[in-house]
Amino acid sequence: MHHLPGEQIHHFHGGLRLRHHKKISCQDPIARLPMPERLVIAVNQHAGATGRPVVKPGYRVLKGELIAEAAGVPGARVHAPTSGIIFAIQDEAIPHPLCIPQPCIILQPDGRDESVAHEPVWDFRQLEPEQLLGRINRAGITGLGGAVFPTAIKVNAARDAGIHTLVLNGAECEPYISCDEMLMREDPQRIIQGAQILHQLLGTKRVIFYIEDQMGAVKLALQTAVEDLKASAIRIVRVSTIYPEGGERQLVQVLTGGEVPSGGFPTDVGILVQNVATVAAVADAVLDDMPLFQRVVTVTGDGINHPRNLRVLIGTPISHLVRHCGGYHEGVTRMVMGGPLMGIPLQSDELPVTKACNCVLALTEANIQPPQAEMPCINCGECVRVCPAQLLPQELYWHIRAKDFKTVKQLNLADCIECGCCDLICPSHIPLVEYYHYGKSELRTQAAEHVNAEAARNRYESRETRLQQVKIEQREQREAKKKLLADDRSRKQAIEAAVARSKARKLRRDQEPE
Ligand code: SF4
Ligand code: SF4
Repeated sequence: MHHLPGEQIHHFHGGLRLRHHKKISCQDPIARLPMPERLVIAVNQHAGATGRPVVKPGYRVLKGELIAEAAGVPGARVHAPTSGIIFAIQDEAIPHPLCIPQPCIILQPDGRDESVAHEPVWDFRQLEPEQLLGRINRAGITGLGGAVFPTAIKVNAARDAGIHTLVLNGAECEPYISCDEMLMREDPQRIIQGAQILHQLLGTKRVIFYIEDQMGAVKLALQTAVEDLKASAIRIVRVSTIYPEGGERQLVQVLTGGEVPSGGFPTDVGILVQNVATVAAVADAVLDDMPLFQRVVTVTGDGINHPRNLRVLIGTPISHLVRHCGGYHEGVTRMVMGGPLMGIPLQSDELPVTKACNCVLALTEANIQPPQAEMPCINCGECVRVCPAQLLPQELYWHIRAKDFKTVKQLNLADCIECGCCDLICPSHIPLVEYYHYGKSELRTQAAEHVNAEAARNRYESRETRLQQVKIEQREQREAKKKLLADDRSRKQAIEAAVARSKARKLRRDQEPE
């Protein structure tokens, strides 16, 4: 039986209190941008199988039109963010940890912003769960907190698993990112509507809206929306801002005091966690029949003249965002997509915004610690104290160095969320997360080799079985033939004997006196 989250708020293990830099990007409302000259829309901007373009160069498309189909599971559709002409379909660099060019659809906007026809829904309560799921799926929604897992698949899996609690994740634990905070302030009704839709779809007992204790304005905005929409099932909970409290596993621990099993998901303990921007996208899809082709992006850091949040069309070049935030401040030395701890480095500001891009961070030399020489581990245990996944970071490090990947696996490296807490605290300046990246890629390679070896063994065994089968069948045929010959021979002998007996009888009769 699952443990229901109660009134009591718990604490997750470890974590760090970090200095926040969110205020600088929250001074102005979310702004829209002028249309860029071209949009580079990645075909695969979700976690899962690569999609398939359904347009060709020269096609004219409308805003919201499907341009790439989900070609596998998990998959997500991709839509045109505005009207225009498909200029090309080619490999282009996109923000990605491996920096490998990916298939992209290049769209030249025509400035008319003409849209496909929509079929809005006035009362989502009249729709069946399958109809709600269908709208979410058609809209190509992925998790907007960074993981970009296709939402329809995640929700459907939670429905099959039977969950009791829906958690709306409004915690943005990385120190610079404020896009969700601004969305909660400016569009709380949309998020609460999305939460009501998911609540109906999943039939959960509870809906908990989880925000940080420093988000004062957000709580008021959400509370008002809850009252206006009569969404009394939704409970807003404020918790201490301790990095990385926005992680799904950490949220579950805070709400239940229990843990997600190693290698498992929150649904294993009856909880579905959804990012707030994703939930707003669900409301757009269900109520307005609006696919996901834009998102809010925080553009910030000491390297940006006018940090703020922007509502951006997917495929917009990052340089376009920076230009409309007053350009660069002097001394930018590093660009990052995401936060300073878990973000990925940006090689160029010409890369396009994807569904995963929640923040563009420009750091100056003053923000970056000069590289320190790596020293031997002194086994101080600080990394163990701060690890939110309750791992043994120093032991992982030792065994990765020793290439003892069997032990690394037993120490549950796969549960490391790469939060960087151990890295930050280590007095020996050991780049622990880099070791864990390496360890994980080795484990993946070994797993792939194991799968290949298993497949080869299975192929060999089935060939051997087939050969044995053929041999057995041939032997059986030979035996049957032999038996047939033997039967023929004995039948012939019997006939000959009968003929001989008959001849003998006739001879005896002929010789008998009359
Ligand atoms: S914090 Fe660094 S030095 Fe201390 S035990 Fe962990 S790895 Fe070793
Ligand atoms: S990076 Fe991994 S090992 Fe280090 S503290 Fe975070 S979860 Fe623990």
